[in-house]
Amino acid sequence: MQIRKLFHFEAAHLLPFHPGKCASMHGHSYRLEVALRGPIQSEGPTRGMIEDFDTIASVVRAGIIDALDHQTLNDLIENPTAERIILWIWRRLEPDLPSLDELVLWETATSCARLRREDLGP
Ligand SMILES: [Zn+2]
Repeated sequence: MQIRKLFHFEAAHLLPFHPGKCASMHGHSYRLEVALRGPIQSEGPTRGMIEDFDTIASVVRAGIIDALDHQTLNDLIENPTAERIILWIWRRLEPDLPSLDELVLWETATSCARLRREDLGP
């Protein structure tokens, strides 16, 4: 089973190699979906859950949202395309969320990047 939680952040970026308007500084209201996969716990405080949604919220807010919200992504990530941002997010989250299974980063209402654990290889 998979569980999923949604987050939002606002950030600016420019794409230095883009031939068109994305080479100029602009902003997006990003939507981030964080999905975990694992067994339903049978003991302890997370009994009946894969993970406590509050734990996911704390980890993602501290590691990702606080770092990216209202920032210029180019200061943190080289050539911050949706694909490169989602890889950056995965590397930061995975150590604290070992059952991380999938991320989806929506850059606009119609454009997103999806990264699944199997996309990363062994
Ligand atoms: Zn953009």
